[in-house]
Amino acid sequence: MQALTTKSKEVSREPMSFWEKMYLPAIFKGMMITFSHIFKKKPTINYPEKKRPFSPVFRGLQILNRDEEGRENCTACGLCAVACPAEAITMEAAERQPGEENLYREEKYAAKYEINMLRCIFCGLCEEACPKDAIYLSETFTPADYQRKQFIYGKKDLLIPHPTEDPEAYKKALGNRAKKEPVN
Ligand code: SF4
Ligand code: SF4
Repeated sequence: MQALTTKSKEVSREPMSFWEKMYLPAIFKGMMITFSHIFKKKPTINYPEKKRPFSPVFRGLQILNRDEEGRENCTACGLCAVACPAEAITMEAAERQPGEENLYREEKYAAKYEINMLRCIFCGLCEEACPKDAIYLSETFTPADYQRKQFIYGKKDLLIPHPTEDPEAYKKALGNRAKKEPVN
């Protein structure tokens, strides 16, 4: 029969020697391997006290963006949902009413906007498809949870903090995007 690998090692059927029966050389060899790791650089870190820097192309949790006055950018055009290969985005559009100009930048807005994080593959196509700079993938993880329904993120989970009401949180959510030019 043809072997599936060239790395297979035949098992020795020879009777064990006296020293092999003592198991001491094998234990000593194992301890040496363990001790040798003490002096090696640790591959682990003390998370969450220490955090590794993200790759510049890291794509994390989605953020629904606001403009510098705090108005929601999203116009509920649906392009992100169409572009999403995982069909993770759903939304409901609504008309902006007189007096709501300080809340929504466009005449139409997303009254409901949901992303199913269990479907999302963090490909970033929603961000690329959006003509209004209304959604982007941030530098944070989606937190773990025990219940599936907690992974349906609504607007309250996705909207960026208000830039004038909570400037610190807004700046933190923007991350490296703070250096980029706003898109009109
Ligand atoms: S990152 Fe990709 S999979 Fe996730 S919601 Fe956006 S388009 Fe869909
Ligand atoms: S996030 Fe962008 S692409 Fe998606 S509905 Fe809003 S404006 Fe359109």
